[in-house]
Amino acid sequence: MPKLHVITYGCQMNEYDSERAAGLLTQGSEYELTDTPADADLILLNTCAIREKAEEKVFSKLGQLRALKQQNPGLMIGVMGCMAQLQKDAIQKRAPIVDLVFGSPAIARVGELVERVRRERRPILSVGEAPLVKLSTMRARPGLKAFVTVMEGCEKHCTFCVVPVTRGRERSHSPASILGEIRELARAGVREVTLLGQTVNAYGRDLTPPTDLAALLEMVNGIDGIRRIRFVTSNPYNLTSRLIRALRDIPKVCEALHLPLQSGSNRILMLMNRGYTRERYLELIAELRETVPGLALTTDLIVGFPGETDEDFDQTVDMVERVGYEGLFAFRYSRRPGTPAAAMPGQVPEDVKARRNTRVLEVAERVSAAKSRPLEGREMEIMVDGASKRDPRELSGRTRCNRVVNFDGQGKVGVGDVVHVCITQAMPHSLRGALVGEGAHVC
Ligand code: SF4
Repeated sequence: MPKLHVITYGCQMNEYDSERAAGLLTQGSEYELTDTPADADLILLNTCAIREKAEEKVFSKLGQLRALKQQNPGLMIGVMGCMAQLQKDAIQKRAPIVDLVFGSPAIARVGELVERVRRERRPILSVGEAPLVKLSTMRARPGLKAFVTVMEGCEKHCTFCVVPVTRGRERSHSPASILGEIRELARAGVREVTLLGQTVNAYGRDLTPPTDLAALLEMVNGIDGIRRIRFVTSNPYNLTSRLIRALRDIPKVCEALHLPLQSGSNRILMLMNRGYTRERYLELIAELRETVPGLALTTDLIVGFPGETDEDFDQTVDMVERVGYEGLFAFRYSRRPGTPAAAMPGQVPEDVKARRNTRVLEVAERVSAAKSRPLEGREMEIMVDGASKRDPRELSGRTRCNRVVNFDGQGKVGVGDVVHVCITQAMPHSLRGALVGEGAHVC
């Protein structure tokens, strides 16, 4: 049977899309998955265009794959995802070894596209918008956790972002199709789902009749077998009191929220076209803290946005301290061709971006450590993911607030179990715990 190797760059939406593409290609037994590119007959690269560095990584990988193609001229190479939508001409010019270029709207037709390359023996290009299709195919490798796309696209038009171009306008999948997919995942053993959307908390407003994410969470909560529900990425602009209450009231919804701030400076937020101020963001944080005890907050930040001064950056650092994030992703601003920010004056030199990035990460590390320490001595529920990366004799799991806990399962606990542990030590990037229960640790 021919073999498929998939390489994924970028966000969780891409991971999900890769799973779907692999699922479609393997479900009819046309392909089987391989982890070794040299064994593959088809290699798919699922790409990200959010930063220039991400694009360069793909071109460098394509350069490496050239040697494989020389050894095996029958090897097919496909590029999918955001870069395919945005950089189709550059891909064809810089990487003529690529046989197939297709955007995420064409994933549903991946089998047909691959077949055309094989039959017609010429490069095939499929980019642009297409009708919204919910793929109900099973994943190629079902596990304990799964991503489920609930909506595609974004209409926010943040001035630094290519997503509205690469993924198109906001379109929600129907609750029935989402629930059907999750029921199928639950039957295959999935215990935790993460609902995905570029602006997931805008879910449902384009449907007839309109609905919202809180209503969808309530429905997913009713599915047998699913024990935990998460959702990303939320936009502060669309965060409602109703969704905040859903975080508190719906039992399977985990107390963790990723709420991108991007900048702590009102001037920069306006230039970014984010649609909120630092004051509004802090109001939301206050409401979240008051409503959802124990909520873990994480965020995304961009440093070195055009025009960002030291004072603007200091306000971002100040927000990190005030909010007290459990974790964050800081990105150096990357100029994306075709976006309004790329043409803005005051582009920040790379060395300044690097310095600011280092500083904000240092502060974030300190803030996160301060949030972890009080967890020592507390009993927490974890879902067991598998062996610990550091010590395979131990197990590793995640709390509802998404922290990694390593512990000794004492031979009593297996993957997928939900157990209670007492946190014995808070380390910089994980926690250590001891199993709580009969004949075990008492917290
Ligand atoms: S909300 Fe997110 S996906 Fe949409 S334009 Fe802004 S950064 Fe991009």
